[in-house]
Amino acid sequence: MPTTALTQVRPGHGRYAPSPSGDLHLGNARTALLAWAYARLDGLAFLLRIEDLDRVQPGAAERQCEDLRLLALDWDEPPVRQSQRTAHYEAALGRLREGGMVYECYCSRRDIQDSPRAPHLPPGAYPGTCRDLDEHQRAAGRERLAASGRKPALRLRGEGASTIHDRFHGELTLPVDDVVLRRGDGVIAYNLAVVVDDGLQHVTQVVRADDLLSSAPRQAALARLLGYAVPEYVHVPLVLSEDGRRYAKRDGDLTVRALLAAGCPPEEIVGALAASIGVPGARTADEVLGRLDPAARLEVWWPHTGDSPLTSRV
Ligand SMILES: [Zn+2]
Repeated sequence: MPTTALTQVRPGHGRYAPSPSGDLHLGNARTALLAWAYARLDGLAFLLRIEDLDRVQPGAAERQCEDLRLLALDWDEPPVRQSQRTAHYEAALGRLREGGMVYECYCSRRDIQDSPRAPHLPPGAYPGTCRDLDEHQRAAGRERLAASGRKPALRLRGEGASTIHDRFHGELTLPVDDVVLRRGDGVIAYNLAVVVDDGLQHVTQVVRADDLLSSAPRQAALARLLGYAVPEYVHVPLVLSEDGRRYAKRDGDLTVRALLAAGCPPEEIVGALAASIGVPGARTADEVLGRLDPAARLEVWWPHTGDSPLTSRV
């Protein structure tokens, strides 16, 4: 049947986008497994993108790729690195600038904390201090920064609210604040890089941890401004450390590498990840693929509690 053939292959890509700030921990590995499985179940190609604009630990990207391969996750194109794509980000920034959507910001973190802000903006949101300055005030701002050797950041002139749809969280509408597009140190901001990459790489499904849910509406707004299709969002629950923190590489939370080094076979790691996403008994990525229900709600996972065999390994 021609209609079946058409629905079997959907255009677009899923992706996993690690930052190489350390070794892959169990939280990263679980999100990677889900991103890979959801993409494969939807007939999407799967991409790996190294988000290395910031906080890079030498060799970490290579080690993360190796760990993912040991868990039998695969990807369809060579991984791209954000550090090699700045021309794309600058081009997008140029388009926003031409559209009058960008302004310079001279505020320090402290300035932003201390400013009064409109009641509809969440704590920590930028209050718009530099949004409507005149030429004279801007020159003064540049001078003030230059005195301490800094440059202005560039912000998006945000407007209104943006709505996204998430597979597990449903509809989410948030005000679009004036996000940083390029930081004062010249580094392209995460929000711009991720939107440009997803747009240019034709990513149609974004699977990532819950802590990024609140940034999805503003990223979707930025995607629309740049003329990209907004992807399907699938935010999945976090993996938590022994004391209830979000799992983090820098805190030495359980890494795939440490488990392998301690003699834990890959099937045992995949088995624990699989059990945590509702597929108990699966021992390989392919077995997960065969049995994972992509609509099933997931729970937060504490690898350190219950009868997880992993934590006794190291
Ligand atoms: Zn400012």
